[in-house]
Amino acid sequence: MASPLGIAYLATMTEPLPIRPAMSPERVRKPDWIRVKAPTSVGFAETRALMRRLNLATVCEEAACPNIGECWTKKHATVMILGDTCTRACAFCNVKTGMPRAVDALEPQHVADAAAELGLEHIVVTSVDRDDLPDGGASQFVKVIEALRRATPSTTIEILTPDFRNKSERAVEAIVAARPDVYNHNLETVPRLYPTIRPGARYYASLRLLESVKRLDPTIFTKSGVMVGLGEERLEVHQVMDDMRSADIDFLTMGQYLQPTPKHAKVAEFVTPDMFKAYAAIARAKGFLLVAATPLTRSSYHAGDDFAKMKAAREAQLAKA
Ligand code: SF4
Repeated sequence: MASPLGIAYLATMTEPLPIRPAMSPERVRKPDWIRVKAPTSVGFAETRALMRRLNLATVCEEAACPNIGECWTKKHATVMILGDTCTRACAFCNVKTGMPRAVDALEPQHVADAAAELGLEHIVVTSVDRDDLPDGGASQFVKVIEALRRATPSTTIEILTPDFRNKSERAVEAIVAARPDVYNHNLETVPRLYPTIRPGARYYASLRLLESVKRLDPTIFTKSGVMVGLGEERLEVHQVMDDMRSADIDFLTMGQYLQPTPKHAKVAEFVTPDMFKAYAAIARAKGFLLVAATPLTRSSYHAGDDFAKMKAAREAQLAKA
């Protein structure tokens, strides 16, 4: 059955959209606005040492995030729970695929210890996909939230979950009941590109997941992100924004896709900073509470500052109502 959220998308897609060819190898050189400094700071080394000592994986390292120098210098790291091995093989993602190890029972406490030692006001916790687990790993998210609330009650908690394929209803109910401050789940790209970029996932299932978070607890902020530069068309991105607003998503993040290794999907286009500004203006007009759209924006980039902005925006909105 087609999702009600899908109807608007289908209705506006009357003409077949041109498929942009991937960039030829001689054009793959990154533009100046993508260049970042190599991580060399003391803060970076300390953050890495802490993660190793507590046996924690981070998406910052596993996804080869270009912002790692900046974020880790400020002791902002995004912890990746449920191991470092994913059961999916998305064409954009650098996290290794395979049969994951058993769930680490000490992991929730180690995440809480890391948050306490780093003095985090806001923490982002994500995970690999664990299609092998009966609950997709939802109970580990709940344990992490509970451990954080015990150890650092003032730390606000943002979770970035997988889609919990075929078990999302119960998984989302359990996580929402644990009351994270922000529930993030990324749509990643436009629906047309799912078969090649995110083949194990379904666009409308992801939208419904986010919609269900809001339905279960409207006080939880919802957040989702897309990568651009994968061959999507502008109108398709606008439609994704409309679909997100239909699901009442509060915060949109948009960033440039970067090819982590030659085996991954190629960059089709480097979207200019001005184009990001144009996307951001359109997204704001569509009613998101907050929009972050720059070439280096990632789901967890500046997440603490953005949480404060989102809270302020909601308070301002409520005051007006
Ligand atoms: S943007 Fe997110 S994933 Fe990248 S280094 Fe910063 S905290 Fe880590």
